[in-house]
Amino acid sequence: MGMIFNIQEFAVNDGEGIRTIIFFKGCPLACKWCSNPEGQSFVLDLFHNKNLCQKCLQCFKSCPFNAVSKDNNSYPVFKREICCRCEKRECINNCIEQGLKIIGEDISAQELINKIITNQLFFRNSGGGVTFSGGEPLSQPEFAKELLELCFKRGISVGVETCGLFNWENVKNFIDKFEFFYFDLKCINSELHKSFTGSDNKIILQNLENLYSIAKEKITISIPVIPCFNDTDVIVDEIISYCRKKNLINTRLLPYHNLGESKYSAIGLEYKMDKKLSISDSRIEFIKQRFVNADINCIIE
Ligand code: SF4
Ligand code: SF4
Repeated sequence: MGMIFNIQEFAVNDGEGIRTIIFFKGCPLACKWCSNPEGQSFVLDLFHNKNLCQKCLQCFKSCPFNAVSKDNNSYPVFKREICCRCEKRECINNCIEQGLKIIGEDISAQELINKIITNQLFFRNSGGGVTFSGGEPLSQPEFAKELLELCFKRGISVGVETCGLFNWENVKNFIDKFEFFYFDLKCINSELHKSFTGSDNKIILQNLENLYSIAKEKITISIPVIPCFNDTDVIVDEIISYCRKKNLINTRLLPYHNLGESKYSAIGLEYKMDKKLSISDSRIEFIKQRFVNADINCIIE
């Protein structure tokens, strides 16, 4: 069994052709700009959609665990340290506005492959397949391996998007079976990395070296370009130098956006990016050109 928080069918990003993206739940990083914060925790999340909430307080009245209180404006407040995502989920059942839902589900690899194969014809005709995303797929190595092998048996190719922070020992006997890797490289400086993601990048860089030694032609470096973090010439040039030195010649830039912001408060998290920040198209194009000038293939996603 594994835990996922979304399945996106007929996707045309994140790999060749038409793809099914499986979003694994749980990530060892907590990047400040993350647009999928509901994928960060390794447990189910109670999601409160404030746009739909009409303050009827049925959730407050119906939770048997007293995990819901109300504030001075009679607005529901969810005590997430008490909420056990109970099986009956009376709060959700009693919300006629559908303002509450649980994010995440336990699912077996067999159940998932049964869903995946319904699109096999589209994969075949478009050169597509499945992409493991998240969250961090390789944080659930046994589940990832099982699902990968089920796809493999049916001739469905699988790529993976990884933040790079995973236990190499847990994946080394199957990782080479992925068709491609979108491997995140956010910056080279370890302290800076820690300040924006919650973890230094020593293991990430080691895993990248390990992967390079067995599957270098399958690696594309993914660089989220984040204002006030890694969008300066100095930091971009450090990444370029690293790629040149390691002969990593395929990169893609993922420009910052704040579309995930509203999800933070819905699951009880704080959005820590400055809301006024943005990155211009011209700046992204300039950064891309720096990679290209260094003989590194670079696309903007
Ligand atoms: S039951 Fe739904 S609409 Fe009513 S207060 Fe709770 S979340 Fe809001
Ligand atoms: S999921 Fe269960 S424990 Fe959590 S708030 Fe709803 S009713 Fe209460």
